[in-house]
Amino acid sequence: MKKRLFIYTMLIISTGLLCFFAASVYITQNNNLNIAKDTVMETARNYADLYTSDTELSAFVKTSGDTRITIIAPDGTVLADSRPLDITSLENHLDRPEVQAAANGSPTAFVRHSDSLGVDMIYYAVTIPTGYATFDGFVYLRAAIPVAKIDAYLFQSLPLLIVLLLAVALLCFAFSRGMIGRVTKPFESVERKLRLLSNGEYVPEPIDGSYEEIDAIIRGIDEVAQVLQSSFADLRDEKTKLDYVMSNIGDGLFVLDDDKKITLINSAALGIFNANLEIVGKNVNYLSNEKTLVDTVRDCVNHNEDALFEFLTNGRIYLTAVKQLHDTKLTMVVLSDVTENRENAMRREEFFANASHELKTPLTAIKGFNELTALNNKDEGINKYIDSITRETDRMLSLIGDMLKLSELENTQNTTPVTVSLKKTAEEVRETLSAAISEKSITLDIIGDGTVEAEPSHVYELIKNLAENAVRYNNPNGRVSVTIENTGIFVYDDGIGISPVEQTRIFERFYRVEKSRGKRGGGTGLGLSIVKHICALYGWELSLKSKLGVGTEITVTFGKK
Ligand code: ADP
Repeated sequence: MKKRLFIYTMLIISTGLLCFFAASVYITQNNNLNIAKDTVMETARNYADLYTSDTELSAFVKTSGDTRITIIAPDGTVLADSRPLDITSLENHLDRPEVQAAANGSPTAFVRHSDSLGVDMIYYAVTIPTGYATFDGFVYLRAAIPVAKIDAYLFQSLPLLIVLLLAVALLCFAFSRGMIGRVTKPFESVERKLRLLSNGEYVPEPIDGSYEEIDAIIRGIDEVAQVLQSSFADLRDEKTKLDYVMSNIGDGLFVLDDDKKITLINSAALGIFNANLEIVGKNVNYLSNEKTLVDTVRDCVNHNEDALFEFLTNGRIYLTAVKQLHDTKLTMVVLSDVTENRENAMRREEFFANASHELKTPLTAIKGFNELTALNNKDEGINKYIDSITRETDRMLSLIGDMLKLSELENTQNTTPVTVSLKKTAEEVRETLSAAISEKSITLDIIGDGTVEAEPSHVYELIKNLAENAVRYNNPNGRVSVTIENTGIFVYDDGIGISPVEQTRIFERFYRVEKSRGKRGGGTGLGLSIVKHICALYGWELSLKSKLGVGTEITVTFGKK
C-alpha cells in the first residue's frame, strides 16, 4: 500500500510540476514576445521622431544595430534597408500586414516569416511625413527584430527554471515520503492487530487517538475480537466435550463427508481398524481392506441411503449402522461389537434345542405309559388324574414341538422352495383347526387364491399359527378370514384385539398377553416367533394392525429375498 501510495503521489506531483513548468515557459515566452513587440514599436517611433526632411535614408537606416529598419515608399517600393541587401531585388512591400496596418492608420506589430532573411521576425511599421511631394508627402518606416532573439532570452532562463523544477520535485518527494509514512503507520497497527486476531493472540491495547477513523476501526476490531474469543472459547468447550464423549463411546464411530472422506473418527473405531488419526481427511478406502464394509458405506453415500449390516473383522462381529445426517451432507457409521451377544444367543439356541430333544423322549414315554394305564385302569377314582396327565403331557409335547420347530428354523440357512398353493394349505389348516372352530362356532373364510415359492411345511406353519391365534383369541360366533393374494396373505379376526403396548412384544418368544393366558388355553407363546422366523427366512414382511376389543389383522407380504 505504501509503495502504491508513493507512486500515485509522485505521479500527481510530477504531472503538476510538468504542467506548471510548461505554463511558466509559455507565459515567459509570451511576455518576452510582448516585450519584444513593445521594443520594436518604440524603436520604430523613435526612428520616426529622428527623421527630418533632409535625412539621408541609407545612412539613417544603418544606425539601427540589431534592429532591422526598412523605409518603404507609399507605393510599396523599398527605399532603404539596414540589412546589406540589394534593395532593387526586394519585392514590393505594400501587401505586408504591418504596412497595411500603418496605411490604415492603426499600426500593429506582427510576427511572421521574412522571405528576404529567411527567419521569423516581429514587424511594426509607422508612417512618417517627408515634407516633400515625391512620396505623396510620407514614407513607411518599418522596424523588425528576429524572434530568435526572444527564444535566446528564454533559453538563458531555462536552466534556472529546470534547476528550480528539480529542487521542488525533490522537496515534494521528501515531503510525500514522510507524509505517506505517517498516514500508513496506523494501518500497520491495524494489520498487526488483525494478524494477532487470526493467530488467536489478540489482546486489546489502549487506543492512541491520533486518527478518528482508524480509532473507529480499532474499536470495531476490539468488539469483533471479544465476540470471536468468546465463540472460540465456547467452541473449544464443545469440542472438548465432544472429544470426551467420542473417546468414551464403546462403539466405533466415524463420519464421512459427501466425498467419502473421513471427517471424524473415535478411538474405538481407530482400534477396530488398527488405524491412527492420520486417517482423518482420507478416503474411506484407506480405512479397511474389507470390501463389504467399504462398498456398502460408499453405496450408502452415493445413493443417500441408510443401511444396517453385520461386518466381520479380526474374529469379531460388528452390527454396523450407516446413517445419513441429512442436513449436514454427512454420513455417520456406528459399529457395535455384538460378538458376545451372538455367542450367547447361539449358546441359548443350542440349549433350547438340546433341552427340547432331551424332554421329548421321556414325555413321549410318559404319554405312552399314561395311555396304557388308562386302558388297564379299573379304578374310576384315578381317571381324573389320568386325564390331567394326558392334558399336561399333550401341552408339554406341543410346547416341545414348537421349541424344536423354532430351533430348526434358527439353524436353517438355505431352503428348497417349491410352488405352494396357498388356498390348499389354508384349507388344510382349517381342517386341522376344525374342532376349535366348531367349539366356538367361528366362521373361517378363505378368500382368493395364489401361490408362493417356499417349503410347504413353512407355509403350513405360518398360516396355521396365524389362523390358530385368530380362532383362539376370538369370541364365540366370531369371524376369521384368510385372504390370499399373490403378493401376500392377510389373516383377519374380529376377536379380543391386542393393546398397542402388547403389540410391540407379542413376536418375542414365550411372550403371552397376561389376560389371554388363563382364559385361552393351548398356546405356547411361540407361535408368532415361529411366524417371524419363517418370514425372516424368506425375506417376507410381517405387519400387524390391531385394536383392543375390535380385532386383529396380520399381513405377510411376500418379497424377493
Ligand atoms: P400363543 O401360543 O400364546 O398364541 P403366540 O406367539 O402365537 O403365542 O402369540 C403371542 C400372544 O399374542 C398370544 O398369547 C396372544 O396374547 C397374542 N395374540 C396373538 N394373536 C392374537 C390375535 N389374533 N388376537 C389377539 N391376541 C393375539
